[in-house]
Amino acid sequence: MEILINGKHISKKETMDVINPYNNSIVDTIPIANKEDTVNAINSANKAKYKITSLSSREIYYRLSDACDDLKENKDKIAKIITQETGKPINGSMYELDRSIETLKFAAEESKRIYGENVPIDAGLGGEGVIAFTKKIPLGVVAAITPFNYPVNLAIHKLAPALAARNTVILKPSREAPLSGLMLAEILANHFPDGVVNTITGQGSLIGDILLSDDNVDKISFTGSVPVGKHIANNSGMKKVTLELGGNDPTVILEDANIDKAVSEVVNGAYLFSGQVCMGVKRVIVEKSIIDEFTDKLVKQSSKLKVGNPMDKNTDIGPLINNKSVEKIDNAVQDAIEKGATLEFGGKLKDNFYWPTVLSGVQEDMELVSNETFGPIAPIIEAKDIDEAIQIANNTRYGLNAGVFTENIHDALRCVNQIEAGSVFVNKASTFRTDNMPFGGFKNSGVGKEGVKYAVESMCRTKLIGFNLD
Ligand code: NAD
Repeated sequence: MEILINGKHISKKETMDVINPYNNSIVDTIPIANKEDTVNAINSANKAKYKITSLSSREIYYRLSDACDDLKENKDKIAKIITQETGKPINGSMYELDRSIETLKFAAEESKRIYGENVPIDAGLGGEGVIAFTKKIPLGVVAAITPFNYPVNLAIHKLAPALAARNTVILKPSREAPLSGLMLAEILANHFPDGVVNTITGQGSLIGDILLSDDNVDKISFTGSVPVGKHIANNSGMKKVTLELGGNDPTVILEDANIDKAVSEVVNGAYLFSGQVCMGVKRVIVEKSIIDEFTDKLVKQSSKLKVGNPMDKNTDIGPLINNKSVEKIDNAVQDAIEKGATLEFGGKLKDNFYWPTVLSGVQEDMELVSNETFGPIAPIIEAKDIDEAIQIANNTRYGLNAGVFTENIHDALRCVNQIEAGSVFVNKASTFRTDNMPFGGFKNSGVGKEGVKYAVESMCRTKLIGFNLD
């Protein structure tokens, strides 16, 4: 595929392959952009600023709505590409497209609701006789840097709010799964003047550092890992930054929980897209008195999952993104077993596949649960009571989402108040998200919020306008 700069498709002699993790075949190639290409993309976005700011809110709404119709028409094609480039089971890719279509619709609607406010400036000393109000105005150029795991939905969560707020954009998708994001950007670009939507592919650190250091980029909106997020935080100077980073999400199951409900939510949350989900269930914290029943039921449910070809509609678990990830997961599982955890189910690997795996007797300091694990693992940690469960839940540098299962309203309230996470759900696993809710973690899980309304806010700046009526 080609990249798009100022309305022109650009190919390069230097390309990189996009590999299908299911069978290691080449899906397509993408250009390796150099410094000059990246600067061209920035200049193109910078020059197009006036083209989008001169559009009315009504115009923006219709353009985003029309793009939404196009995305719907291309749903099957793009979903298939997601599955080819990521190994995500096709049902999951179709669902990602449904969510992306809804996200784009939310953004179209939000473009009509960007309000300033009346400021009672005459309440301040010297303000007598002056009236004032604020306007929310665009930031200018937004660079969107996205990861491999939700290549369309995470891109639309940046591009659509940025456009709704009348910014121009540059999308830098992940090198593992760039194609579907490029297709999405292409659809959006077709509805805006040249230069409003640009794309760039290649080496993340090279392109990233140019985007970070160029004064013509006004915002970096990044979703990805903690180390890259920290690098961006440390090097983005005066730019506005949103960082949606990794998670190590706990799901707590207390003794009076509906165990069947908890088990089915944990199965979905721990194994969804083979566990390669930022808010996936990464730590299953279970009160001692119910741990045996919970573990038995979890093993039973885990054994029903179908591992196989991600293009098959009956497949639950496809491959991981690459073999390095499989090795990393297996090392963490073996380390946990060596240190005393019990393998209750799974632990099997082949090529790029890792089977759904349940481990019990997991201790908090094991690598498997002390860092973010991006694989289909349900590690069970025992807690003697609710106090210990909360303490374990908080014993992490991450704080994205959390889930709590209990039928007791008092325990539920204690957990939601005391667990340090951007979202805490009662009787839902941490994996729950809708595209209009404020989404973003505490601690190392990030800075700022996405979710369309919140992302639009973060894509604007506030200008105060005053009139002296004296
Ligand atoms: P990653 O950090 O390796 O890459 C993300 C993006 O950053 C890619 O486009 C990559 O090319 C780019 N990049 C690499 N080096 C860069 C640099 N120096 N400067 C700027 N950009 C650079 O992440 P990944 O492996 O693609 O995705 C998995 C990670 O993303 C996990 O940690 C996961 O938890 C996180 N994630 C977070 C959320 C969230 O919303 N909080 C959602 C999905 C994934």
